[in-house]
Amino acid sequence: MTKYIVVAGGVISGVGKGVTTSSIGKILQSYGYKTTAVKIDPYINCDAGTLRPTEHGEVWVTDDGGEIDQDLGNYERFLDINIPKKNNITTGQIYKTIIDRERGGKYLGKTVQFIPHVPDEIKRRVRLAAKGFDICLVEIGGTIGDFENIPFLFAMKSLERDIGKENIIYVLITYLPIPSHIEEMKTKPTQQAIGMLGENGIFPDFIICRAKKPLDSVRKSKIETYANIKSSNVISEPDIDSTIYRIPLDLEREKFGLKILKELKLRPKRRIDFRNWKRLVDNMTNPRRVLKVAMIGKYVDIGDYKLADSYISINESLKHVSAELKAGIKIDWLDAKKFERSNMGILKQYDGIIIPGGFGSTGIEGKINVIRFARLNNIPFLGLCLGMQLAVVEFARDVCKLKDANSTEFNPETRHPVIDILPEQKEIIKNSRYGASMRLGAYPAKLQKGSLVWKLYGEKNLIHERHRHRYEVNPDFIDIIESKGLVFSGVSPDRKLMEFVELPGHKFFVATQAHPEFKSRFGKAAPLFYGFVRGILN
Ligand code: GLN
Repeated sequence: MTKYIVVAGGVISGVGKGVTTSSIGKILQSYGYKTTAVKIDPYINCDAGTLRPTEHGEVWVTDDGGEIDQDLGNYERFLDINIPKKNNITTGQIYKTIIDRERGGKYLGKTVQFIPHVPDEIKRRVRLAAKGFDICLVEIGGTIGDFENIPFLFAMKSLERDIGKENIIYVLITYLPIPSHIEEMKTKPTQQAIGMLGENGIFPDFIICRAKKPLDSVRKSKIETYANIKSSNVISEPDIDSTIYRIPLDLEREKFGLKILKELKLRPKRRIDFRNWKRLVDNMTNPRRVLKVAMIGKYVDIGDYKLADSYISINESLKHVSAELKAGIKIDWLDAKKFERSNMGILKQYDGIIIPGGFGSTGIEGKINVIRFARLNNIPFLGLCLGMQLAVVEFARDVCKLKDANSTEFNPETRHPVIDILPEQKEIIKNSRYGASMRLGAYPAKLQKGSLVWKLYGEKNLIHERHRHRYEVNPDFIDIIESKGLVFSGVSPDRKLMEFVELPGHKFFVATQAHPEFKSRFGKAAPLFYGFVRGILN
């Protein structure tokens, strides 16, 4: 029988619930248990595809085409497994299913009510995601006390009744503030969170205390008394100034994994071996050299903090390379609009340039200027999705002399639409069917033997990467572009869609229509990011 670990957050959001959940998963996986994780998002959207990245962070794409909250990305990066879209549950999905069923006459004669229909549907989905796994973590988004996560807490309590308390435990992650005017760590908000969880009939088996500093024994015993749990089950997780990948090591130092297994009435299946993980963490924290990478984005004007979140998977992919190559990577997020007129001098200080994915026309000409600068000055360049489309536009304009070449996303009237929308996408846009309607999820690409991309992917002829876009390279322009030296080194198996481009003779000039950042994992950096940093170091 699958065992469940429900993770909920108290006090405030943004204290690293997703990373902690992923770390717990990593530890249990390392003890030999087949582990997965589910993220519950209490918002009414059916998925994250229609949310604003600047408000909500990046949209994560799964192999099976889900557009999901970024926490699923953390789970994949830590657990090194592909997590399908069914592992993300939103309030919207729950109600949509129930209402569709009701309209379809499936409940004929019955009154459809919050209880039991909503918790039943939540439980059904959680159990479906957990099927085939020994342990399933269920992270409940939001903060205890929010109206919108009450149904999910209710459902978890009901699951407990169905499967027995020995098969489900609760972990509460709280935050202990240290107000600057008194310089004392306060436990009161944590006590209140425990109280609120209790109102839902849930008593935590573990409390993870996030704070600036480690928890001292006075605070520990205060929480022990209040929550009525052993102080050994109160786990301190202070802020770290190095890397999130250190958290499984820190938690294991408190024997957290063994304590969880004990509560779940399980024994370790094997000895935990974090030697390689630790080596990678040490590499990251003691780099031989620090490289500077410019990421030319569009969300900078909303503030650096949000921006970092909008491109989290790219940041993490670079960190994965950093761990493998023992090279520090400092990313500067530069606003593409800055480069619309010139300003290229700023770029001289960078070892490499990345143009990430994006939508809409803001900053497009700036990005094109930057790509030209990278191409002409032999600066390593990696283009992702929109980054590849613009690399093709730049080359078409400057080298193929196709005046005004553009993507029809930005200039529908261009005489040289080198990037154009797929015919089926035209219909979708016309009918405003924006939800889950892009080219989404993993697609195969055939790599050209002997190309740089082929070498980076371990000389594989066929690879899969994840996608999220509507526009493509227009096949009418492939011959002229290739005749001038840009190589389409990866294409869809039917040869209709261009998936990778590269520029032979350049230090590193590679771009892809895909989002390889969604498949990068700690210990298994994505090949293109690895190649990009190698290209800088060579
Ligand atoms: N806006 C482009 C498209 O839809 C690129 C999308 C992206 O970068 N993810 O094709």
